[in-house]
Amino acid sequence: MPIYEKILKNINQPENIPLLETIFTIVSPHSQEIAKNFYREMLSNPQAAHFLNHDEVKNRLTASMTNWINSVFLYRSTDQAIEEYRDYQFKIGRVHGKIGLPVSFVNYGMYLIKQDVLRFLVASKLNREALSAALILVNQILDCTLQIINESYESDLIINEKDSQALKMQFSTHHLAFDCERLRTSLSDWMRDLLMNIQQDLSDESSLLTIRQSNFSLWVTHKAQLFLANRPELASLLRLLDEMDETLHSLVKCLKDDQKRPELLKNLNVLVSQASWVLGEIAKEIIDQDSGRDSLTRLFNRRYLDTVLRHETLSSLKSDQVFGVIIVDIDFFKRINDGYGHDNGDRVLEQFAEILTHEVRAGDFVFRLGGEEFLIVLGDVTPRVIKRVAEKIRMATENTAFKLADQQTLTVTVSLGTAIHDGHPDFHRTIKLADDALYQAKQKGRNQVVAADQFLIAGM
Ligand code: GH3
Ligand code: MG
Ligand code: MG
Repeated sequence: MPIYEKILKNINQPENIPLLETIFTIVSPHSQEIAKNFYREMLSNPQAAHFLNHDEVKNRLTASMTNWINSVFLYRSTDQAIEEYRDYQFKIGRVHGKIGLPVSFVNYGMYLIKQDVLRFLVASKLNREALSAALILVNQILDCTLQIINESYESDLIINEKDSQALKMQFSTHHLAFDCERLRTSLSDWMRDLLMNIQQDLSDESSLLTIRQSNFSLWVTHKAQLFLANRPELASLLRLLDEMDETLHSLVKCLKDDQKRPELLKNLNVLVSQASWVLGEIAKEIIDQDSGRDSLTRLFNRRYLDTVLRHETLSSLKSDQVFGVIIVDIDFFKRINDGYGHDNGDRVLEQFAEILTHEVRAGDFVFRLGGEEFLIVLGDVTPRVIKRVAEKIRMATENTAFKLADQQTLTVTVSLGTAIHDGHPDFHRTIKLADDALYQAKQKGRNQVVAADQFLIAGM
């Protein structure tokens, strides 16, 4: 159990209830003042102000900071309530981590809050004994909370850091993909040599190359263990390797058995083809993942979505420009697959990707989220502009004759949800808003655009 969980349990013991209530009664009337002091002090620091100088953020964050202060000193009677508190702090940490706010600012922020809380406690009418107990408990609570925030914060920062490292590592992962392609050749060479040995000298077992000595086996047991650890493909390759080994052993035992030999060779050949296929899939996926591109449409995949959104969030905090997102989903796509086949489904996806690329502005980012769902990040937009772009995509799709195999054509419609970033550092909220708007567009009959503000105002 992490140390902070023990401390949280200690804090929330029933005997602390009266003291927690006392602290809450003294602090909560001042919570808004504490929140305001916090932002005033933070804004006076030019580096910290970078992350905050958005009016809307200031108002919104003051409100959520006030709520946070009021929640910190509540008594939590159940394990579930304690876990919820922990998750709440985790979330705060992750939001800070996402926008890349230096950890020293988080610590400094907590220091400011603590100073204020202690000041109000000291100024209260508590007797000496009660005051000491309250000061100790407040310290425990705030220190423990900071520890939780920092823990999730750091893990998120590390993930972000890994992503930027990954961008630089592209070159070496391309080598890995290259390895896979080379190994496919070496596997088929190995199989060909084996067949030749068997044909030429059936009496000499030592001339049979075992799979364990092959390049393929060396690669799987050394390099792949390092690069593909925990991936299902590695497990498949290891299983195939074992099965090849077993089949080879059986083969050596019955080299002269004209009945069994062809069957075993056939099995071995199947295993080799399977391994070759897995290698090909790994190569494709490595290249897709690391280039951040989807191989069917050549659009970005999810890989760098967070990186792009983090960048847009930071730029919007530093300027008056806001970004927006459009989520597009092809209507009744399953019917296209069912009626015309998966390959034609893929053709539609490819052509739709072209429409998207054509209709967005040069500075916008188009991602394939998966399946027939796409996301566009538009830097510097207004509600009017985003609606216009979304509407253009909708119309262009409706008016396109999608080309299928055998000269057939098909018309397709799409539903779109749009949302403008509201200044909150947690950019996933914007995606959620656009997603909810898309859901509304589907509900309202598809082939239409719904803007998040539009359905919020409509109170839906
Ligand atoms: P809705 O209008 O509600 O969006 O209906 P829908 O049929 O488009 O949505 P649903 O999510 O039920 O179906 C999406 C289908 O997309 C299911 C899946 O088989 C198919 N799909 C996902 N990825 C691909 C792909 O890469 N190629 C092809 N051809 N089909 C895919
Ligand atoms: Mg769909
Ligand atoms: Mg879908």
